[in-house]
Amino acid sequence: MFTRILIANRGEIALRVIRACRELGVESVCVYSEADKDAPYLKLADRAICIGPAPAKESYLNISRIIAAAEIADVDAIHPGYGFLSERAEFAQACLDCKIEFIGPTPAAMARLGDKVACKNAAKEAGVPIFPGSPGAIEDPDEAVKVAEKIGYPVIIKASAGGGGRGMRVCHNEMTLRSNLQAASTEAQAAFGNGAVFIEKYLEHAQHIEIQIIGDKHGEAIHLWERNCSVQRRHQKLIEEAPSPGVSREKIQPVCEAAVRLIKQAKYHGAATVEFLMDNKQDFYMLEVNTRVQVEHPVTEEITGVDIVKTMIRVAAGEKLPYKQSEIKVRGHAIECRINAEDPARNFMPQPGPVTKWETPGGPGVRMDTHVVTGYVVPKYYDSMVAKLIVHADDRTQCINRTARALREYNVEPIKTTIPLHLRLMENTDFRKGGVDIHFLERLLK
Ligand code: ADP
Repeated sequence: MFTRILIANRGEIALRVIRACRELGVESVCVYSEADKDAPYLKLADRAICIGPAPAKESYLNISRIIAAAEIADVDAIHPGYGFLSERAEFAQACLDCKIEFIGPTPAAMARLGDKVACKNAAKEAGVPIFPGSPGAIEDPDEAVKVAEKIGYPVIIKASAGGGGRGMRVCHNEMTLRSNLQAASTEAQAAFGNGAVFIEKYLEHAQHIEIQIIGDKHGEAIHLWERNCSVQRRHQKLIEEAPSPGVSREKIQPVCEAAVRLIKQAKYHGAATVEFLMDNKQDFYMLEVNTRVQVEHPVTEEITGVDIVKTMIRVAAGEKLPYKQSEIKVRGHAIECRINAEDPARNFMPQPGPVTKWETPGGPGVRMDTHVVTGYVVPKYYDSMVAKLIVHADDRTQCINRTARALREYNVEPIKTTIPLHLRLMENTDFRKGGVDIHFLERLLK
């Protein structure tokens, strides 16, 4: 096992990794920007090192500063969390070059699965169901029109290097496809440094279902079943749950097994999520693979009892997976609500600033993953997520009721949050029924 791990992240996920390290008897070193210097979780790490000013480019996204901190602290490994540098192959490579273990896949495996076009090709080989679409990146508008006519409109243009729900364009006819292709590529070049775009069939009514995988360095990989993340706003998830309502184990199992084949074939180790859209007929189409731990990993931890973050660290240290596939059982139901410092009544305007009151729920089945305490100041520089409420119960209805109960126990002042919206969702008839699609929330907010 490692002696010391550096955490190249901030907020709740930094705290999540500190906790995992503590339980494993590993020292943790946290890096922070000037904006986070008073963050309370830093005191829970064994050491905290300032890596620069508030803007992420000068701190959490700055590879040389993070590597310098790792050298100073003499760590054996780096956990990248999610976001920031977690999916940058050049960061994984920089760690490798400096003989620091990157807690995640090799740069090669990351590149193979992190690029959407490369990933689709690998998926096809592994027998993972993919969207009909262009076989690779596409530049020529005539060729794009040919593909679109074959698969049928609407189609979606996506950036191969895309992420965060940005840069996607839905086209309903030849004219919009022709006029959007070049613009999408220019935009992708500016946003992701790679102008490659591709097209695939656009599903009007779909649910977002993803499979959690974890693999070790000995060629073994297992799945931890699925999560349903269909409650989204602007392609950003707001609620995630597991297992997926309305989907039988018989239906999901072959999808999970295909996802495992893809991960094994890519010689991938660490945590990965294979994302799918599911249509009305419960047919699955792969979207992409996320080569890191996800925000919503706790719902899977709750239903399976597997500590994903600790397992990531153990496999990075070279241990064999501590579980066999047959040992992974689904127990009850779990829901996660992302609590963002945003005002739902004012178009989700960010709410940075001091939190003078922060009272959080407790009781049976309630887990709070948060770095916030009373007196914390929400910085304006980063993502607005301030907490994740994760609730576990015997079945979905009890889980929804318990989540509503927990949401009512919050007392947060003066910042506005997404808590009232979550409460409204827990009481919504369609949500309670299960099986809402990815446009449900946007229809509700109209
Ligand atoms: P990103 O990497 O930017 O998050 P994804 O490929 O994961 O992009 O897609 C994000 C979201 O965009 C999906 O959850 C879904 O809501 C929507 N989306 C993407 N591809 C399609 C598609 N082919 N049909 C319908 N919706 C899609």
